[in-house]
Amino acid sequence: MQAARRAPSVGRQLLSSWPCAFRGQPCLCPARRPYASVTGQAVLDKSDSLSSEVSTKEKPAKAESKSFAVGMFKGQLTTDQVFPYPSVLNEEQTQFLKELVGPVSRFFEEVNDPAKNDMLERVEETTIQGLKELGAFGLQVPSELGGVGLCNTQYARLVEIVGMHDLGVGITLGAHQSIGFKGILLFGTKAQKEKYLPKLASGETIAAFCLTEPSSGSDAASIRTSAVPSPCGKYYTLNGSKIWISNGGLADVFTVFAKTPVTDAATGAVKEKITAFVVERQFGGVTHGPPEKKMGIKASNTAEVYFDGVRVPAENVLGEVGGGFKVAMHILNNGRFGMAAALAGTMKGIIAKAVDHAANRTQFGEKIHNFGLIQEKLARIRENMAALQSDRQQQELFRNFRSISKALVEQGGVVTNNPLGF
Ligand SMILES: Cc1cc2nc3c(=O)[nH]c(=O)nc-3n(C[C@H](O)[C@H](O)[C@H](O)COP(=O)(O)OP(=O)(O)OC[C@H]3O[C@@H](n4cnc5c(N)ncnc54)[C@H](O)[C@@H]3O)c2cc1C
Repeated sequence: MQAARRAPSVGRQLLSSWPCAFRGQPCLCPARRPYASVTGQAVLDKSDSLSSEVSTKEKPAKAESKSFAVGMFKGQLTTDQVFPYPSVLNEEQTQFLKELVGPVSRFFEEVNDPAKNDMLERVEETTIQGLKELGAFGLQVPSELGGVGLCNTQYARLVEIVGMHDLGVGITLGAHQSIGFKGILLFGTKAQKEKYLPKLASGETIAAFCLTEPSSGSDAASIRTSAVPSPCGKYYTLNGSKIWISNGGLADVFTVFAKTPVTDAATGAVKEKITAFVVERQFGGVTHGPPEKKMGIKASNTAEVYFDGVRVPAENVLGEVGGGFKVAMHILNNGRFGMAAALAGTMKGIIAKAVDHAANRTQFGEKIHNFGLIQEKLARIRENMAALQSDRQQQELFRNFRSISKALVEQGGVVTNNPLGF
């Protein structure tokens, strides 16, 4: 628990110190950054000069495969495919992100209380209010629809901070935007986006993603929830139940997957195929069970959600009728990205705590970070994290186990480096 916590209005105060461009961040094309390591640049320079020598002596080559693996077999390294680690942010985006990192970190250090959230088994209202004011419910919603308009990389960096401090909050925010309304962002019509995204981005309404059922987990195609079209074609009647739905007890807007009859235009045969729907609680017939008692991430709400004869307007079909499986997989692939970012943050937090302990705990008259086994353990955790972040720079830094743990301890228990370089 933090020593000094601020009043609920702090979110607004933090937000006011943010750049005014916060709600109007353009996602521009990827820009290449200079080579990160001198070694990498040297290899490239050498290879460039070699290839230019060769090209002056040889006849013009035919178009060759651009595959890195094929090049390896031929003994040729296409170095620009591996050096440097790609940077997708342009200068403006990087600057904008730098300006967001401070306030978001401060919010989680000074306002949010993870222990209290855990004890309450819900996210405290102070935190929810502050997060709304920070724009945290609509980080990737385009600014013209009321969101912050972050690209994936910017989003990942902020989610990393959330994951470092409170995964219960992380699930609440992630279930809302990483999966809950992600389908509307990815597949929604203009009308659907305009209708739902502004309120979802501000946190006025909360979203949930409803795929899992008692008999359908990994095998998502086996769901039984059904949506039957009305004879007039104006609405579908939705029946079924979903389990383990994050935000299930809080949400106002649900992305729901159900089986619908689809007629094959060529054969006339009718097949049951999955269709995605945007369902509002206020349509009627939507209820939920009590929050599940979980071993961890207790502050996040996980509940069963029941759909009992819910009338869903035909215009609330998300994507194509019968195309729901593709919608679900696209959303989940996006969601996994956020999950990995959050857990990279969790690992960072854990490493900082482990390093702090190793630097301060004395046994046999020595700080335990001096023991080789402890150094190796720290180095391995850090190496795993570097792999998770796919950060070449960090992997290079961490070749030598002893120097890694020493470096970590010298940072005074604070892991400062991150894949974006700040
Ligand atoms: C905290 C929490 C929050 C959740 N939130 C949501 C949510 O918001 N929305 C939602 O729709 N769902 C949600 N879920 C459900 C989650 O997506 C499912 O738990 C998941 O899809 C796995 O399904 P299952 O638990 O039924 O496991 P099963 O599918 O029964 O799998 C059991 C085990 O078998 C393994 N397995 C399955 N198939 C194979 C295979 N072919 N080869 C090898 N191994 C296999 C699995 O990896 C797993 O270890 C949540 C679950 C939890 C615990």
